[in-house]
Amino acid sequence: MQFNTQLLHGKSIVKNPSKEMLPPISQVTAYQYESMEELEKVFSHKSMGYAYTRIGNPTLTSFEQRISELEGGSGAVCCSSGMAAISAAILAVCESGDEIIARSGLYGGTIDLLHDLEKLGIHTVFTKDMTGEALKPLINEKTKLIFAEFISNPALQVLDIPLVSGIAHEYGIPLFVDSTTATPFIAKPLLLGADVVIHSTSKYLNGGGNSIGGVIVDGGKFAWNTDKHKALSEFKKYGKAAFIIRLRTDIWENLGGCMAPVNAFLTCIGLDTLGLRMERICDNADKLARTLNQLKGIEVSYLTLDNHPYHDYVDRELNGYGGGILTFRAGSKERAFKIINSLKYVMIASNIGDIRTLVIHPASTLYIRTEKEEMEAAGVYEDTIRVSVGIENIEDLTEDFIKAVSESE
Ligand SMILES: *Cc1c(COP(=O)(O)O)cnc(C)c1O
Repeated sequence: MQFNTQLLHGKSIVKNPSKEMLPPISQVTAYQYESMEELEKVFSHKSMGYAYTRIGNPTLTSFEQRISELEGGSGAVCCSSGMAAISAAILAVCESGDEIIARSGLYGGTIDLLHDLEKLGIHTVFTKDMTGEALKPLINEKTKLIFAEFISNPALQVLDIPLVSGIAHEYGIPLFVDSTTATPFIAKPLLLGADVVIHSTSKYLNGGGNSIGGVIVDGGKFAWNTDKHKALSEFKKYGKAAFIIRLRTDIWENLGGCMAPVNAFLTCIGLDTLGLRMERICDNADKLARTLNQLKGIEVSYLTLDNHPYHDYVDRELNGYGGGILTFRAGSKERAFKIINSLKYVMIASNIGDIRTLVIHPASTLYIRTEKEEMEAAGVYEDTIRVSVGIENIEDLTEDFIKAVSESE
């Protein structure tokens, strides 16, 4: 079964109780039972059933099973946001005294979270490079996980997942990958060697810009050693499922960041068209990048362009696609603003992954509180414009950008 067929007819598309074609929205707080014995069985996990939406809900289960199948995982847990997913995933394996190795140039919210975790005694070591030479000296007995984005936004650095997971596994450490900008359409981190994949579903998975959400997918192959990963010691008996079971029955349940049932429904609807949207988005982004690249005084960064430092990864890891994000430098902040303000079809918004093309000037928004050096490490300069390419007709998009750029000269 190929990707688009799997989206609609995969094994996770289950028969619903009243033969609904789509997952029904189970918009309730709690579930009622005929007898106390029945509810006791549900609570003690002796029978399948739902009790309370924060702990489990059939609409959430539908979404979790679908994304787990698409990523090639063993199970998934969906959360109220991408940040809730990253928080829960980290807290399921790290406790006070533990260390994380993370790639610098992460999503701003993730960097802030990792700084917040310092107060809980979880320390993060940031590294620009994720090579053996850079990583090995940073690993010690406190290191409990390596965290990185598959395709970073907006720097567009691609993670060499086979290489980094190989190094991590040599030391008994799992690799957690934020694959928000890649999506399983472009590539599946778990199949490349990652152990856990995380998404902000608010972006491409939903696609319609109508709900915040996040999800954690477990590969189910990592051999947890609870002498090392002490946070999982009570879950030792579950072996390779220790992480997902602690996550679901402990951290996720108790942090209280479940996805709203209606958001799970909307994200399932979005997922149906993920393949079509991503194909169109990647094709549009490639064409727009090539057009912009020919304009005077414009410097474009996009993965499929020959001069991009991560160009080689497009065929090696990304199945020929460059994703939906590109950036370009306009020469000055003033010119960048002028270009943005005169775009006709393109919306100014601080989001990515929408079917509508969105632009932003990152230096004056997303990076307003970031040190210049850190900002430039993320590929953002005073004159950088970030474009999240949508599904509009490419002729209209290129015309819009050409006009805006030429009028700004
Ligand atoms: C948006 C985003 C997040 C955070 O997700 P929210 O749903 O906004 O909480 C995390 N990682 C990446 C790469 C993102 O783009």
